[in-house]
Amino acid sequence: MKNFPIDDFQTIVDDVLIRHRSILDILTKLQESTAKINRAVAKSATYCGCIRIHGERQEIPMDVSYSQLKSYMKDHVDGEFCDICKEKIEHELSTNFFYLTALCNVFDINIEEMLAKYNEQLKTLGKYGLL
Ligand SMILES: [Zn+2]
Repeated sequence: MKNFPIDDFQTIVDDVLIRHRSILDILTKLQESTAKINRAVAKSATYCGCIRIHGERQEIPMDVSYSQLKSYMKDHVDGEFCDICKEKIEHELSTNFFYLTALCNVFDINIEEMLAKYNEQLKTLGKYGLL
């Protein structure tokens, strides 16, 4: 499903969001959905066991340049989501994106235009744009 029409999604979110249309509901539902993403990742490790998380200090040699840094950084995740966990994570991410879209709608922010601007910024500044 490439080239998903973000504009269509933004319109659908506007059409179906009825009960939680207040900015207060949108902000708190967005925060709640973020917590559910964290919980789903944690449960994949602690309940299902399809992934393992090994939080540890990043080991970076002293003489590494910033442009080489990526190859030394670990994500601390071993394994892959099983089908059940992947479905749960995708659901929670979709809900999060739903409320993020609702937030954009409240402030008349077009997601496609916003991401196009950000994409240009990333292309221009590259990895140095995120410092
Ligand atoms: Zn799993």
